Amino acid sequence: MVPEYRNCIGGEWVAASSGDWIEVRNPADTDDVLGQVPASTVADVQAAIAAARAAFPAWAGLTPPERGRVLHRAANLLETQVDAWTSALTREEGKTRMESQREVVRSVELLRYFAGEAWRVGGDLLPADTPNTLLYSLRVPLGVCAIITPWNFPLSIPVWKIAPALVVGNTVVFKPASATPIMAIMLTRLLHEAGLPAGVLNIVTGAGGALGDALVTDAGIDAVSFTGSYSVGHALYQKTAPRLTRTHLEMGGKNPVIVAADADLDKAVQIVAAGGFGLTGQACTATSRVIVERPVLQAFTERLVATARNLKVGPGLSDGMQMGPAVSTGQRTTDLEYIEIARSEGAKVLAGGGAPEGSVYARGHFVQPTVLAGLTPNMRIAQEEVFGPVIGLLEAGDMEEALAIANNTSYGLSAGIITTDLRRAIRFAERAEAGMVKVNQGTVGASIQAPFGGFKNSGSGMFREMGKGAVEFFTKVKTVYIDGQ
Ligand code: NAP
Repeated sequence: MVPEYRNCIGGEWVAASSGDWIEVRNPADTDDVLGQVPASTVADVQAAIAAARAAFPAWAGLTPPERGRVLHRAANLLETQVDAWTSALTREEGKTRMESQREVVRSVELLRYFAGEAWRVGGDLLPADTPNTLLYSLRVPLGVCAIITPWNFPLSIPVWKIAPALVVGNTVVFKPASATPIMAIMLTRLLHEAGLPAGVLNIVTGAGGALGDALVTDAGIDAVSFTGSYSVGHALYQKTAPRLTRTHLEMGGKNPVIVAADADLDKAVQIVAAGGFGLTGQACTATSRVIVERPVLQAFTERLVATARNLKVGPGLSDGMQMGPAVSTGQRTTDLEYIEIARSEGAKVLAGGGAPEGSVYARGHFVQPTVLAGLTPNMRIAQEEVFGPVIGLLEAGDMEEALAIANNTSYGLSAGIITTDLRRAIRFAERAEAGMVKVNQGTVGASIQAPFGGFKNSGSGMFREMGKGAVEFFTKVKTVYIDGQ
């Protein structure tokens, strides 16, 4: 019997009104059916929006600490179930057990962080122009927020959007990625177990292409928070503009790392391999272009190739695995197609370059960790996001050239440099066109308390996620003048 996971609309756990289901399978072993989720319809989306609207006044009417307590309880519950959630996450998304565990623990921390915001959301007390006048500003919720998420962090991205949306008093309609809907339904269930009232968080699963327009253009939606690809995000922005709906987009990346001639090469290889092959390269912040100064190009390349060839690739739940499969057959095809595009553009495959062979890989979407050399800045492989374990090497004559190559992309999410020269590090931090700059650290990874988001085509840019930015996005500012005469 295949487990059945349902939508949650107005506190009721319901099937799709179509009666149709979508099967979810393990990307490391497609014979392993994890469950089925509703193939929702536009009518289901509309019912979820209506439920969220109905729940809004009472939820917004609670004090922030009352709302924060629900998030605290959810964090405590999740913390007692880390092992079970870790396995479930790996079975659905494919990342290694260690990577899943980090994501679950981080989600506990995100819930706690945003629960704590309950005591900090406030405003400013301002000097008044007239006597006996109280002048202050305060932050109020937006209303009903549509939250649309990708599959690559199927737990932590929904948490870092939903938790701040809820704590400041919004209600939510959540449309998770179709590759990882079970994690999303488990999160919705967890928040209800923690005491969330009916209708405050509603989830509808199903194809974004079929449901997206109905969700983001509905007059009952006051804000949209989207993370995903540039193509989907860009099209979505045109749809929310006519109603002036507040919209936040976080999108793709083509993240560079510069390896300076003075770098500690062992450290550089470790940072680049973790950034490019960790999470199977399926991170918006993954390292995909490595720009190496000529004097160290050969030595760095040899060590990176050796590291790539030695990585243990396999099912994420097996012991000792360092890299799991691609999330889907579609993503694996994209990875392999980009490797072919690179070959046809003149790049050389120094490691990997295809699907690994052997019975352990027969039923999964595996791709070899791949190192490509001889890239030039304008090749497609140096410009377009792959979202797989593919690292491309580019050569630079000096720092100026390296910086120009690093910035030569339509994306601007994360950028790194490996150097022992503080002046170079500072120059890079000043000039890198990216929302996040890393010196001697991997391009992947962001602190909960720090602003996160991309420049250029990586993000809509007006707001930031995590940190204070999350509360700013999910609230609007009201200014109050009280004359006490
Ligand atoms: P995607 O194809 O753009 O999908 C993202 C979400 O949008 C999914 O829930 C998807 O639903 C939904 N969607 C699809 N078509 C839609 C439409 N017409 N209207 C509204 N929603 C629609 O991206 P993905 O493949 O899931 O994720 C990978 C991408 O996300 C990469 O580009 C990656 O760089 C980016 N990403 C960015 C960040 C960041 O913070 N900057 C973080 C993680 C990932 P379905 O799944 O049903 O299609």
